[in-house]
Amino acid sequence: MTGDREISPALSINGRDYRWPVAPVVVICFDGCDPAYLVAAEQAHAIPNLSRMMRDGFHRTALAAMPTFTNPNNVAIACGAPPAVTGVSGNYYLDRATGREVMVLDGHQMKAETIFARFSATGADVAVVTAKDKLLRSLARNHTGIALSAESPEAAIAAIGPIGAWERPDKYSADLSLFVLDAGVALLERQHCDIVYLSLSDYVQHKHAPEEPEAIAFMGEVDARIGRLLKLGAVVGIVADHGMNDMAGPDGSARVLYVQDELERAFGPGAARVICPITDPFVRHHASLGGFVRVYRRNDALDMTAMQHHLAGLDGVEQALLGPEACALYELPEEGEGDIVVIAAPGFALGAAAAEHDLSALAGHRLRSHGGTAEQKVPFILSHPLDPAFAARAEAGLRNFDIFDYAINGVTP
Ligand SMILES: [Zn+2]
Repeated sequence: MTGDREISPALSINGRDYRWPVAPVVVICFDGCDPAYLVAAEQAHAIPNLSRMMRDGFHRTALAAMPTFTNPNNVAIACGAPPAVTGVSGNYYLDRATGREVMVLDGHQMKAETIFARFSATGADVAVVTAKDKLLRSLARNHTGIALSAESPEAAIAAIGPIGAWERPDKYSADLSLFVLDAGVALLERQHCDIVYLSLSDYVQHKHAPEEPEAIAFMGEVDARIGRLLKLGAVVGIVADHGMNDMAGPDGSARVLYVQDELERAFGPGAARVICPITDPFVRHHASLGGFVRVYRRNDALDMTAMQHHLAGLDGVEQALLGPEACALYELPEEGEGDIVVIAAPGFALGAAAAEHDLSALAGHRLRSHGGTAEQKVPFILSHPLDPAFAARAEAGLRNFDIFDYAINGVTP
């Protein structure tokens, strides 16, 4: 730590002040880590390091940002602010101006600066490592430090040297997440780091329930790497972008409400276009089915309130809200929001039209997915106990995007 670093003033980012980290701060976005995965792995004695953090550091349940999808929550965590501030509320959206459906492939929608961009611009050593290239392009927007993705392992290894024993992690496996964590270990071992963000993939959680051996084994692999980060003297903070729930019936088939089909049955063909913001052509294991969809009325003669009431009365729907109501209630950006937002009841998935979803992508697995309020509860874990002022604040409730504030400002390393 150099002298000029120690006297750097606090940085104000999106309305919060961050002090200069005095020890390396590593935040892990444990993608899809529903609290149930911690419970099952702890019962199996598979996660000694996480168990110690939860016991000796700090552990509560926090609420993820809505919708409980990967992109909006990673961006919220990176900015320390809700989607209303960041401008990112989906992976996939309808551009009202052009009528085109657009995949979020970079950070062009973002309205807020990230903690990474600001700290790196101020001279801090900041590294961002993600499982997916696509997410990295959002998170590393205007960031001048290290930015690596497990999907581009050669570039990552060229940048920082060997990463574990990896050459090329399998894109469709748990390996991407383990590569990200090994990159974090390699960074801390080899170079000075002030802030490191490690964003994993939820491949395992989409496929396996918490008590399945594959899930327990994965938790153990993650835990071992967390142990290495702790040994290297880092303050470690862990949150998830969303939980994960089973959305299949007793016979194993997916319990899906196809919202666009329902609206066409009730209000006629072409009544509305339904967008599933979970849609991601690079990730097929959820068949683009999740707990949150946006409805765009196509026929202006139709009464919006009648459509809303119809949707609210359907089996599998927890809430059907008019766009502005949803924005106010869930801190969503108004730009681009649907005319109606539909949130699934626990245990149900929402789709657009049945013909658009390829259920064969589930490959015989029960549908496990996320997106609604049922997947809002996520772990919030710190390696160190909170200072009294932060401990008091935490009692009022935590959001997953509070994690950098608490990890940087809230503990004494
Ligand atoms: Zn995710």
